[in-house]
Amino acid sequence: MSEVAQRLKAVQDRIAKACERGKRDPSTVKLIAVSKLQSVELIREAYAAGQRDFGENYAQELRDKSAELADLKDIRWHAIGPLQSNKAKYIAKQAFAFHAVENLNVAQELSKRRSLPKLKLFIEVNVGGELTKSGVAPTEARGLYDEVRALPNLEVVGLMALPPLADDLNILRPYFRKLRAVAQQLGLKELSTGTTADFEVAIEEGATYVRIGTAIFGARES
Ligand SMILES: *Cc1c(COP(=O)(O)O)cnc(C)c1O
Repeated sequence: MSEVAQRLKAVQDRIAKACERGKRDPSTVKLIAVSKLQSVELIREAYAAGQRDFGENYAQELRDKSAELADLKDIRWHAIGPLQSNKAKYIAKQAFAFHAVENLNVAQELSKRRSLPKLKLFIEVNVGGELTKSGVAPTEARGLYDEVRALPNLEVVGLMALPPLADDLNILRPYFRKLRAVAQQLGLKELSTGTTADFEVAIEEGATYVRIGTAIFGARES
């Protein structure tokens, strides 16, 4: 077994245990392997071990890797980082989902450049109210949702958040709960939240997509 395959297995085991603790049906929690700044060789190893969903932060990197890995027909690319309108075309063409919708402009650009199947979207919510983080305020989520859901070729499926970092993970529970509450108010099912640092708590609090990089691929070269 490759090192990546072993790490992937360890992460899957931790996800299964978190599902038990949170009384969650494991089939409702999907793992996105965040491969930003990691090599295509490592992505192939994870794919060989059965992983199909991969997350990338940078539009050009997603474009280049999806071209290099075009032989992996059923791979799904998740764009998870902030996006500028002029790079939306790469995401519109190659991605399965975009997790960081925070304004109408980018959504319009994605809509214009997408053809079917619809691109799945997550509206990013700044649950911690942090100045350094992207996303709309919880109170602005409905307004943006109503504008974006009217656009063709897109399907808003949920909300995304990157809560503050904390040594004591219990401090994070209110942020995950806030995200779930806002999604419920909007009638949205999917919650994209939880990274290497906090995915188990995120699952206990309702995450349906966890985005995990370091625990699977090791530290990133930057
Ligand atoms: C990098 C990144 C992740 C993964 O972070 P790890 O700590 O490596 O698990 C998840 N979500 C977003 C938005 C990221 O940028």
